[in-house]
Amino acid sequence: MSPTLFSIFINDLSKEIDANLGNLNAVNIGETQIPCLIYADDILLMSNDINSLMNQIQIVNEYCKRNSLDMNFDKTKLIFQNIRYENDHIELNLNNELKRIDIVREYKYLGFWIGNNTKKHLSSLTKNGNKSAYLTAKKLKEIGCANGTIVKNTFEMLTLSKMQYGGEFCFYNKLSELNRIQFQFYKRFYHLITTTANYCLIGEFGLFPLEYHFEKAAINLWIKIIFNESSTIMKRCYNHVSNNLDNSNYSYTWCWRIKHLLKQINLSHLWLDQNSLEINKRKCKIIVKTRLMEHFRAIWINDTKKSRTGIDYLELSQFDCSMKSYLTLNLKLNIMAPLLKLRCRNHDLAVKTGCYRNRLSYDERLCSLCDDRTVETVYHFICKCALYNDIRLHFTPFFVDISKQDFYVMLETLEIGKIVTLTKYINSANSIRADKLRQRPMTS
Ligand SMILES: [Zn+2]
Repeated sequence: MSPTLFSIFINDLSKEIDANLGNLNAVNIGETQIPCLIYADDILLMSNDINSLMNQIQIVNEYCKRNSLDMNFDKTKLIFQNIRYENDHIELNLNNELKRIDIVREYKYLGFWIGNNTKKHLSSLTKNGNKSAYLTAKKLKEIGCANGTIVKNTFEMLTLSKMQYGGEFCFYNKLSELNRIQFQFYKRFYHLITTTANYCLIGEFGLFPLEYHFEKAAINLWIKIIFNESSTIMKRCYNHVSNNLDNSNYSYTWCWRIKHLLKQINLSHLWLDQNSLEINKRKCKIIVKTRLMEHFRAIWINDTKKSRTGIDYLELSQFDCSMKSYLTLNLKLNIMAPLLKLRCRNHDLAVKTGCYRNRLSYDERLCSLCDDRTVETVYHFICKCALYNDIRLHFTPFFVDISKQDFYVMLETLEIGKIVTLTKYINSANSIRADKLRQRPMTS
């Protein structure tokens, strides 16, 4: 039966349960009693004691009998919160018919795993994310698209949305598995080595960690509640919990975490003024999104700054973590990839290899192919090294005699024609470099 039709059909069931509320020890939050949640054909009955719950099942069962419906006892499960129950099932006598109901520790309700912790839900998001990332990459490969904006939008629409399902309700400390899926997707799709630093991907594609998406969704739900766009029951529960946050029973609840999240991003005034907010919902959402982005950008800069090569990357990316323009040009992957690889340290210039091959300090990782006695960085490789003077003049004269700062700025504004010639330069320079190194006697 279609969900809408079912909702119309079953509408009077909740009225029947409400009529019996006096006899049911229903779960209550403040003044609000919540005996059941009915969404389409999913019915969730809640009670403070088992006998009262059994009475509710009786009511539902009798209602079903009268309306020619059948309760599916194989799918009906019982879950206890905060109490231990020794048996793995209970038996219920319904009109002289014995029905068995299994007791479970976790149950999936509307796609969300309910249980004593949220681990199960997290692992189900990981599983769905992995599967979806694979299919998304396959689809994009089929249409031969490498445009960063399209790839990112498609990933966010098809995969990220699955990975953050229900995220507005839960706060996780660590989403490392989900983040790994996101970063791996971009690494695989653009043929980057698996050891590529995630900070490069954040900077190149403007990626945000899953924590950002979860927190944004949670605050957006909060905005919906305070602007009275949620269900009345949600609003009533919210009002009760948010007004009683000083009571230790309500520490670490969803409302408590929202309050602290707003404080973290310097928006405590939104929490304090929530009943008299003068800005509209749209404006509120924009402010939250901007602050959250600033917050995660600051974390990105802070983490990246910890290594000297990280500092190099920050300079290269102009301290900006948004999609770089060369990725949004409609270029084939083989044209775009050489520049992307160079920028993401997928190269064997001395600035990188000197570190792990010879354990040299940063200033000792010199270019051995010219007389400059300078660190072999991406800038040196493209703009300075005398070994490639001829091809530089031929392919990329716009990079001759250019300062490091101008080089970084120019990388952001290159048009298609220049990217194509830069790719040719990088490919030729790489093979000249490889030849030169091969000819030389091996040094330890
Ligand atoms: Zn050199």
